[in-house]
Amino acid sequence: MPDGSRTDSPSRGPVPNRKNLSRKFRVATGRMLAPLVDLLFPRVCSLCSVPLVDSHSDEALCNDCRQTIAAWDRAPCPRCARPLPCGAANEPAACPACRQANYRFERTTAVGQYRGLMRDAVLRVKRLGEEALTLALGRLLAELLLLRPDHPSPDVIVPVPMHWTRRLIRGVNGPELLAESLSRSLQIPVEPRLIRCRRRTRKQGTLAPTQRRRNVRRAYEAGSRAGLAAAHVLLVDDVMTTGATANEIARELRRGGAARVSLAVLARGTGGGRTAGQ
Ligand SMILES: [Zn+2]
Ligand SMILES: [Zn+2]
Repeated sequence: MPDGSRTDSPSRGPVPNRKNLSRKFRVATGRMLAPLVDLLFPRVCSLCSVPLVDSHSDEALCNDCRQTIAAWDRAPCPRCARPLPCGAANEPAACPACRQANYRFERTTAVGQYRGLMRDAVLRVKRLGEEALTLALGRLLAELLLLRPDHPSPDVIVPVPMHWTRRLIRGVNGPELLAESLSRSLQIPVEPRLIRCRRRTRKQGTLAPTQRRRNVRRAYEAGSRAGLAAAHVLLVDDVMTTGATANEIARELRRGGAARVSLAVLARGTGGGRTAGQ
Protein backbone atom coordinates (compact mmCIF):
# COMPACT_ATOMS: atom_id res chain seq x y z
CA MET A 1 0.00 0.00 0.00
CA PRO A 2 1.34 3.44 -0.78
CA ASP A 3 2.07 5.73 2.08
CA GLY A 4 -0.75 8.32 2.13
CA SER A 5 1.22 10.68 4.37
CA ARG A 6 3.78 11.35 1.66
CA THR A 7 4.04 15.13 1.07
CA ASP A 8 6.92 15.49 -1.38
CA SER A 9 5.99 15.90 -5.07
CA PRO A 10 8.00 15.59 -8.27
CA SER A 11 9.57 18.79 -9.57
CA ARG A 12 7.23 20.62 -12.00
CA GLY A 13 9.58 23.45 -13.01
CA PRO A 14 9.15 27.12 -12.09
CA VAL A 15 5.70 28.14 -10.94
CA PRO A 16 4.32 30.81 -13.33
CA ASN A 17 3.78 34.07 -11.51
CA ARG A 18 0.83 36.40 -12.08
CA LYS A 19 2.82 38.77 -14.36
CA ASN A 20 3.90 35.93 -16.68
CA LEU A 21 0.37 34.59 -16.87
CA SER A 22 -0.97 38.03 -17.71
CA ARG A 23 1.58 38.50 -20.51
CA LYS A 24 0.90 35.01 -21.92
CA PHE A 25 -2.83 35.66 -21.77
CA ARG A 26 -2.46 38.96 -23.62
CA VAL A 27 -0.24 37.40 -26.31
CA ALA A 28 -2.61 34.43 -26.75
CA THR A 29 -5.68 36.68 -26.88
CA GLY A 30 -3.98 39.04 -29.31
CA ARG A 31 -3.16 36.10 -31.58
CA MET A 32 -6.71 34.79 -31.40
CA LEU A 33 -8.31 38.20 -31.99
CA ALA A 34 -5.94 39.31 -34.76
CA PRO A 35 -8.13 37.92 -37.61
CA LEU A 36 -11.17 39.67 -36.10
CA VAL A 37 -9.29 43.00 -35.74
CA ASP A 38 -8.03 42.65 -39.35
CA LEU A 39 -11.59 42.00 -40.52
CA LEU A 40 -13.05 44.99 -38.67
CA PHE A 41 -10.14 47.37 -39.26
CA PRO A 42 -8.17 46.18 -42.31
CA ARG A 43 -4.71 47.78 -42.53
CA VAL A 44 -4.46 50.00 -45.55
CA CYS A 45 -1.61 51.62 -47.47
CA SER A 46 -0.75 54.99 -45.86
CA LEU A 47 -0.49 56.57 -49.29
CA CYS A 48 -3.28 55.14 -51.52
CA SER A 49 -5.51 53.47 -48.88
CA VAL A 50 -5.78 50.06 -50.64
CA PRO A 51 -5.95 47.17 -48.13
CA LEU A 52 -2.49 45.72 -47.50
CA VAL A 53 -2.08 42.11 -48.65
CA ASP A 54 0.10 41.09 -45.72
CA SER A 55 -1.73 42.71 -42.84
CA HIS A 56 0.73 41.27 -40.30
CA SER A 57 3.73 43.00 -41.85
CA ASP A 58 5.02 46.23 -40.29
CA GLU A 59 5.07 47.76 -43.77
CA ALA A 60 2.64 50.68 -44.14
CA LEU A 61 2.94 51.23 -47.92
CA CYS A 62 1.67 48.90 -50.65
CA ASN A 63 4.11 47.53 -53.25
CA ASP A 64 2.63 49.64 -56.06
CA CYS A 65 3.15 52.88 -54.13
CA ARG A 66 6.67 51.89 -53.07
CA GLN A 67 7.62 51.17 -56.68
CA THR A 68 5.91 54.28 -58.10
CA ILE A 69 7.51 56.81 -55.74
CA ALA A 70 10.94 55.20 -56.04
CA ALA A 71 11.04 55.17 -59.87
CA TRP A 72 13.79 57.23 -61.54
CA ASP A 73 13.93 58.32 -65.20
CA ARG A 74 17.71 58.06 -65.13
CA ALA A 75 20.27 57.23 -62.47
CA PRO A 76 20.60 59.98 -59.83
CA CYS A 77 23.88 61.88 -59.33
CA PRO A 78 25.67 60.48 -56.25
CA ARG A 79 26.33 64.00 -54.89
CA CYS A 80 23.06 65.90 -55.53
CA ALA A 81 20.62 63.15 -56.69
CA ARG A 82 19.64 65.04 -59.83
CA PRO A 83 19.01 62.52 -62.65
CA LEU A 84 22.19 62.36 -64.73
CA PRO A 85 22.14 62.99 -68.50
CA CYS A 86 21.64 59.92 -70.69
CA GLY A 87 24.82 57.89 -71.04
CA ALA A 88 26.75 60.02 -68.52
CA ALA A 89 29.15 58.40 -66.07
CA ASN A 90 27.72 57.84 -62.58
CA GLU A 91 29.76 60.61 -60.92
CA PRO A 92 29.30 64.26 -59.90
CA ALA A 93 31.74 65.41 -62.60
CA ALA A 94 29.11 64.37 -65.18
CA CYS A 95 26.30 66.27 -63.43
CA PRO A 96 25.39 69.76 -64.76
CA ALA A 97 23.96 70.78 -61.35
CA CYS A 98 27.16 69.82 -59.51
CA ARG A 99 29.34 71.58 -62.08
CA GLN A 100 27.29 74.75 -61.61
CA ALA A 101 26.99 74.75 -57.81
CA ASN A 102 29.76 74.43 -55.29
CA TYR A 103 27.89 72.01 -53.06
CA ARG A 104 29.23 71.70 -49.53
CA PHE A 105 27.60 68.30 -49.00
CA GLU A 106 29.21 65.18 -50.38
CA ARG A 107 26.38 62.82 -51.08
CA THR A 108 22.58 62.75 -51.42
CA THR A 109 20.24 59.81 -50.99
CA ALA A 110 16.70 60.39 -52.30
CA VAL A 111 13.80 57.92 -52.52
CA GLY A 112 12.55 59.30 -55.84
CA GLN A 113 11.79 62.26 -58.06
CA TYR A 114 9.45 65.08 -57.02
CA ARG A 115 6.44 64.39 -59.24
CA GLY A 116 3.07 62.61 -59.27
CA LEU A 117 2.50 60.37 -56.28
CA MET A 118 5.78 61.40 -54.64
CA ARG A 119 4.74 65.06 -54.86
CA ASP A 120 1.43 64.17 -53.14
CA ALA A 121 3.38 62.31 -50.44
CA VAL A 122 5.72 65.27 -49.79
CA LEU A 123 2.78 67.69 -49.56
CA ARG A 124 1.07 65.38 -47.05
CA VAL A 125 4.22 65.13 -44.92
CA LYS A 126 3.87 68.89 -44.37
CA ARG A 127 0.36 68.50 -42.95
CA LEU A 128 -0.86 67.69 -39.48
CA GLY A 129 -2.27 64.17 -38.99
CA GLU A 130 0.05 62.46 -41.50
CA GLU A 131 2.53 61.13 -38.96
CA ALA A 132 2.01 57.45 -39.95
CA LEU A 133 2.79 58.24 -43.59
CA THR A 134 5.84 60.33 -42.65
CA LEU A 135 7.24 57.55 -40.46
CA ALA A 136 6.62 54.97 -43.24
CA LEU A 137 8.43 57.16 -45.79
CA GLY A 138 11.26 57.61 -43.30
CA ARG A 139 11.60 53.82 -43.04
CA LEU A 140 11.75 53.61 -46.85
CA LEU A 141 14.53 56.21 -46.90
CA ALA A 142 16.36 54.28 -44.16
CA GLU A 143 16.15 51.09 -46.26
CA LEU A 144 17.92 52.91 -49.10
CA LEU A 145 20.62 54.23 -46.76
CA LEU A 146 21.17 50.72 -45.41
CA LEU A 147 21.37 49.31 -48.95
CA ARG A 148 24.04 51.86 -49.92
CA PRO A 149 25.89 52.54 -46.67
CA ASP A 150 28.07 55.62 -46.44
CA HIS A 151 31.62 55.16 -45.12
CA PRO A 152 32.26 56.21 -42.46
CA SER A 153 28.63 56.13 -41.39
CA PRO A 154 27.04 59.37 -40.06
CA ASP A 155 27.54 60.21 -36.38
CA VAL A 156 24.44 62.32 -36.02
CA ILE A 157 21.17 63.10 -37.85
CA VAL A 158 20.09 66.75 -38.17
CA PRO A 159 16.72 67.76 -39.65
CA VAL A 160 16.57 70.94 -41.76
CA PRO A 161 15.28 73.43 -39.18
CA MET A 162 11.98 75.21 -39.52
CA HIS A 163 11.41 78.76 -38.27
CA TRP A 164 9.29 78.69 -35.12
CA THR A 165 6.51 80.79 -36.69
CA ARG A 166 6.15 78.34 -39.56
CA ARG A 167 6.11 75.42 -37.16
CA LEU A 168 3.43 77.15 -35.10
CA ILE A 169 1.24 77.67 -38.16
CA ARG A 170 1.71 74.14 -39.54
CA GLY A 171 1.61 72.36 -36.20
CA VAL A 172 3.99 69.75 -37.56
CA ASN A 173 7.65 69.55 -38.55
CA GLY A 174 8.00 66.99 -41.37
CA PRO A 175 11.83 66.92 -41.56
CA GLU A 176 12.05 66.41 -37.79
CA LEU A 177 9.62 63.47 -37.90
CA LEU A 178 11.51 61.97 -40.86
CA ALA A 179 14.75 62.34 -38.89
CA GLU A 180 13.15 60.53 -35.93
CA SER A 181 12.10 57.68 -38.22
CA LEU A 182 15.61 57.43 -39.70
CA SER A 183 17.11 57.51 -36.23
CA ARG A 184 15.01 54.54 -35.10
CA SER A 185 15.89 52.49 -38.19
CA LEU A 186 19.58 53.41 -38.40
CA GLN A 187 20.30 53.66 -34.65
CA ILE A 188 21.93 57.07 -35.08
CA PRO A 189 21.02 59.91 -32.66
CA VAL A 190 19.04 62.97 -33.81
CA GLU A 191 20.28 66.41 -32.71
CA PRO A 192 17.89 69.09 -34.02
CA ARG A 193 19.65 71.79 -32.00
CA LEU A 194 22.93 71.53 -33.90
CA ILE A 195 21.50 73.99 -36.40
CA ARG A 196 18.86 76.69 -35.92
CA CYS A 197 16.88 78.93 -38.21
CA ARG A 198 17.78 82.58 -37.48
CA ARG A 199 15.08 84.21 -39.54
CA ARG A 200 12.00 83.29 -41.50
CA THR A 201 12.77 82.80 -45.19
CA ARG A 202 10.37 83.03 -48.11
CA LYS A 203 9.12 79.71 -49.53
CA GLN A 204 11.90 78.45 -51.80
CA GLY A 205 9.41 76.85 -54.21
CA THR A 206 8.05 80.27 -55.19
CA LEU A 207 11.46 81.74 -56.14
CA ALA A 208 13.82 81.63 -59.12
CA PRO A 209 17.14 79.74 -58.55
CA THR A 210 19.23 82.91 -58.00
CA GLN A 211 16.62 84.31 -55.59
CA ARG A 212 16.66 81.00 -53.67
CA ARG A 213 20.36 81.34 -52.87
CA ARG A 214 19.86 84.93 -51.68
CA ASN A 215 16.75 83.93 -49.71
CA VAL A 216 18.61 81.42 -47.49
CA ARG A 217 21.96 83.25 -47.18
CA ARG A 218 22.94 83.47 -43.49
CA ALA A 219 19.47 82.20 -42.50
CA TYR A 220 20.92 79.34 -40.40
CA GLU A 221 23.32 79.17 -37.49
CA ALA A 222 25.24 76.20 -36.05
CA GLY A 223 24.06 75.64 -32.50
CA SER A 224 26.89 73.78 -30.76
CA ARG A 225 30.48 73.62 -31.90
CA ALA A 226 31.19 70.87 -29.36
CA GLY A 227 28.44 68.67 -30.82
CA LEU A 228 29.73 69.13 -34.35
CA ALA A 229 33.46 68.61 -33.79
CA ALA A 230 34.71 66.45 -36.68
CA ALA A 231 31.28 64.86 -37.01
CA HIS A 232 29.77 63.32 -40.12
CA VAL A 233 26.28 64.86 -40.22
CA LEU A 234 23.32 63.37 -42.07
CA LEU A 235 21.07 66.32 -42.95
CA VAL A 236 17.41 65.37 -43.53
CA ASP A 237 14.70 67.16 -45.50
CA ASP A 238 11.50 66.22 -47.31
CA VAL A 239 12.33 67.71 -50.71
CA MET A 240 15.36 69.23 -52.43
CA THR A 241 15.15 71.26 -55.61
CA THR A 242 18.17 73.48 -56.34
CA GLY A 243 19.92 72.39 -53.16
CA ALA A 244 20.29 76.04 -52.04
CA THR A 245 18.88 75.43 -48.54
CA ALA A 246 20.86 72.21 -48.01
CA ASN A 247 24.01 73.89 -49.29
CA GLU A 248 23.65 76.89 -46.97
CA ILE A 249 23.08 74.59 -43.96
CA ALA A 250 25.97 72.30 -44.96
CA ARG A 251 28.26 75.36 -45.19
CA GLU A 252 27.19 76.50 -41.71
CA LEU A 253 27.54 72.98 -40.22
CA ARG A 254 31.06 72.74 -41.60
CA ARG A 255 31.87 76.24 -40.36
CA GLY A 256 30.69 74.97 -36.97
CA GLY A 257 33.18 72.09 -37.06
CA ALA A 258 31.47 69.23 -38.94
CA ALA A 259 33.94 67.20 -40.99
CA ARG A 260 31.40 66.03 -43.51
CA VAL A 261 27.75 66.52 -44.46
CA SER A 262 25.59 64.00 -46.33
CA LEU A 263 21.98 64.49 -47.29
CA ALA A 264 18.88 62.30 -47.13
CA VAL A 265 15.65 63.52 -48.73
CA LEU A 266 12.40 61.93 -49.80
CA ALA A 267 12.26 63.63 -53.18
CA ARG A 268 14.60 65.34 -55.61
CA GLY A 269 12.97 68.07 -57.66
CA THR A 270 14.50 68.77 -61.02
CA GLY A 271 13.68 72.48 -61.10
CA GLY A 272 11.40 74.09 -63.62
CA GLY A 273 8.19 73.79 -61.64
CA ARG A 274 7.12 75.02 -58.23
CA THR A 275 8.07 72.80 -55.34
CA ALA A 276 7.02 72.62 -51.75
CA GLY A 277 10.44 73.46 -50.30
CA GLN A 278 10.60 75.67 -47.21
ZN1 LIG B 1 -0.44 52.29 -51.89
ZN1 LIG C 1 24.97 66.36 -59.06
